[in-house]
Amino acid sequence: MATKAKKFVFGLKADRQLDGDKMNSDFVKKVVAEGGKGAVIAACMQCGTCSGGCTNIDQMDMSPRTLILMTQRGEWEKVLKSNALWMCSSCYICTSRCPRGVRPSDVIEAVKAIAIREGIENNSTRFNQIFVELVQKRGILFEPELMQKYGGLQAMIDQAELGIKLTLKGKMSPFPAKIKDPKTFSEALEEAKQS
Ligand code: SF4
Ligand code: SF4
Repeated sequence: MATKAKKFVFGLKADRQLDGDKMNSDFVKKVVAEGGKGAVIAACMQCGTCSGGCTNIDQMDMSPRTLILMTQRGEWEKVLKSNALWMCSSCYICTSRCPRGVRPSDVIEAVKAIAIREGIENNSTRFNQIFVELVQKRGILFEPELMQKYGGLQAMIDQAELGIKLTLKGKMSPFPAKIKDPKTFSEALEEAKQS
């Protein structure tokens, strides 16, 4: 029986990652439309270079390589539930090293935006929400306040030693700081929200 010829791009089999699978192009398009415009998700060859250089992979339940594969397959539930979305620090190492121009960091950002819009809630979304509210309120973060809102009194007690060390080294102020022009800052935030 005749076998179907494989497609090659620059000597590499174009569909290497999906032998026996089917690319979910609708899902891929959705992610690209959300903000991953430069991302070439279909080109991933599962080499693992992104995962090998990822700075936070020890905190993730799914590596960037796997997350791209799940995105290709349209395994929405697995991608949405992965803590990799929230553990990614957007360091862009994966994107700078990817030999295929896949841009995993952009894919993660795009999937994260979809997840938030679909109402996914966890400790990371709660943390992000509190962070944004506090920055909106003061124009600058006051770390002890963030700690108190996010983790309560117990978190403040747990982090007290670190907080004192940071304060003594001048890395953190024990009092809230003020920004010079809160009005301009607030207008810029509103503009960013609309864009
Ligand atoms: S480095 Fe690029 S091609 Fe390799 S697995 Fe990661 S995303 Fe895919
Ligand atoms: S951008 Fe995110 S996924 Fe990519 S290497 Fe950095 S932490 Fe890992």
